[in-house]
Amino acid sequence: MARNIIPIQPAAGTQVAKEPTFDYFTTKKDELVGWARKFSIFPYPFVTACCGMEFMSVSSTLYDTDRFGAALPRFTPRQADLLMVVGTVSHKQAPVLRRIYEQMCEPKWVMAFGVCATSGGFYNNYAVLQGIDKIIPVDIYVPGCPPRPETVIDAIMKLQDQIAGEHHVILKGDF
Ligand code: SF4
Repeated sequence: MARNIIPIQPAAGTQVAKEPTFDYFTTKKDELVGWARKFSIFPYPFVTACCGMEFMSVSSTLYDTDRFGAALPRFTPRQADLLMVVGTVSHKQAPVLRRIYEQMCEPKWVMAFGVCATSGGFYNNYAVLQGIDKIIPVDIYVPGCPPRPETVIDAIMKLQDQIAGEHHVILKGDF
């Protein structure tokens, strides 16, 4: 027996937004670009203190960040898209860090590596910046003094999820 299908109507007075014609394709492009970007992270290590040893450990073959497409550090901000702030940042260094962040092209992301970069750590004094988010936006914070390599890898994976889920601006003619 055929079922009566009752069409669902919007409530009286409700405005229903019309879907743009190419919304489907835009979404798929976003996914494609997000997938490519998440597996091609180029980090710029801004290393100032003892967390640098842990950064070297993470970058070693034992932990192999190449598995995540994030193995190649770039030592110029213009070729990097992930600023890894590794260690204590003093007020004297803060303008330099800010300048490096501004020199990076969009899209870009920032990782606060260790408690010193996150909050100043136990250096609660007049000389140390109490967290890099006072001067630049931070996408992911890595706890620990220093953080274990596994914690850093976990942060990279979380950042990858964030990158993949972002809206990626695609210029006309890119595809
Ligand atoms: S978090 Fe600990 S290991 Fe890292 S820079 Fe600060 S004091 Fe050094």
